Amino acid sequence: MSENFRRLPAVHRLLESPRLHAAAQRYGRSAATEACRKALESIRNRLRLGGGSLSDAEIEDAVLAELRSLEADAYRPVVNATGVMLHTNLGRSPLPAQQAESLSGYLALEFDVERGCRGQRLAPLKERVAHLFGAEAAVMVNNNASSLLLILRALTHRKEVLVSRSQLIEIGGSFRLPAVMEAAGCTLVEVGCTNRTHLKDYAEAINDETAAILVAHQSNFRIVGFTTNPSMDDLAALAHERELPFIVDQGSGCLHDLTRWGLPYEMTVGDCLTAGADLVCFSGDKLLGGPQAGIIVGRRRWVEPLGRHALYRALRPDKTALVQMDRTLRAHQADRLHEIPLYSMLEMTVDALRRRARRVARRLKDNGVLATPRPTRAALGGGTTPDETLASYGFALDGGQNLLDELRRGETPIVARIEDDMVVVDLRTVMPKQDQVLVAELLSACQRTAGGQSLKTGGK
Ligand SMILES: *Cc1c(COP(=O)(O)O)cnc(C)c1O
Repeated sequence: MSENFRRLPAVHRLLESPRLHAAAQRYGRSAATEACRKALESIRNRLRLGGGSLSDAEIEDAVLAELRSLEADAYRPVVNATGVMLHTNLGRSPLPAQQAESLSGYLALEFDVERGCRGQRLAPLKERVAHLFGAEAAVMVNNNASSLLLILRALTHRKEVLVSRSQLIEIGGSFRLPAVMEAAGCTLVEVGCTNRTHLKDYAEAINDETAAILVAHQSNFRIVGFTTNPSMDDLAALAHERELPFIVDQGSGCLHDLTRWGLPYEMTVGDCLTAGADLVCFSGDKLLGGPQAGIIVGRRRWVEPLGRHALYRALRPDKTALVQMDRTLRAHQADRLHEIPLYSMLEMTVDALRRRARRVARRLKDNGVLATPRPTRAALGGGTTPDETLASYGFALDGGQNLLDELRRGETPIVARIEDDMVVVDLRTVMPKQDQVLVAELLSACQRTAGGQSLKTGGK
């Protein structure tokens, strides 16, 4: 064994080999040195565990593999086969494949081209946002948590804000309404009970210190049974009678009637405004299907000052979000929903998905892997319509947790799910252009789990 250790080349010697010399030119000397160290380290570990020695070419291969992984994207593209369309861990709404031209060079971000002077970052977009939602004014920030922080800080600092006990929500990724309110420096006044809150609970809680009434959408849960909450119209009327702003954290940014896609009706941003909300805020990367952003729309009197607040500078969106949002808004405005990946997924018919499932299953079978096409249920996810699913289609494979884990370890990771001990791939969230890589990754994962997948029946 010690002989094998001694025969390992030194780093500087390794780098003299023609292949690694070339690699060092491409990746840089320090990266190549680091890769040599790492590769040698893992080879030594192998030897310690009783592994055999490697040839020079094999050692060089190991170094090159290390170098390639240094070069790989930090945020790797994956195939989302979970059927969850707004998957927060997978980047929520997917963006269009083609990047806008203005993002690959300079753009008039804060520049008035007409007059040749400094312009306002939001000026080109504000009108478009407001128009799409039928609002008087609009502001855009970094995400919806920022929207709430800005609204509360600017309008309710050191004052009281009324919230129903049924709406003290926590959203994934450590967004908790009470914590955001604390950060904004306002006092949360809880009204009503978890299941029932009445208009008079709000009315009785209003005093000289009250700065606003806030309604937060119960994004990711439902309270069912003996429940009640006052209508938005009644809350708006109460707020206005007491000269308070009525704030709605709508969350999802729903702007179309979801029943169009067989989903349950959800109050749209426009509905909230019609009901009398003064400020409505929501995410850009949920049902809007755009980039991460927070959008605030509503009455000019309340919304306009937000863009001038000192905190706005810290919360403002970057140019990529602004450009992508503009594109998303125009697609909604013109009802060109197929340009928004989320909506092209929603629009896909079960028939079309079934045909794809059969085609993929056939290609797998030709290579000795059995996949059984089957109906599945997809979900919007991202804290929208929590208890509703959408008919979808995919296929199931034997192999259980083993195969599920192996699928994530391929060159392009496949994220699937387990149902009845089978690995289930839901095609609604797999981009059609990914079908080919899906097949390749499935075949290679089945090969790696050798024996785990055989030509046994793939389910019901
Ligand atoms: C999603 C959501 C948030 C958080 O939005 P981010 O854009 O993730 O910051 C806040 N409130 C509600 C009601 C939500 O649904």
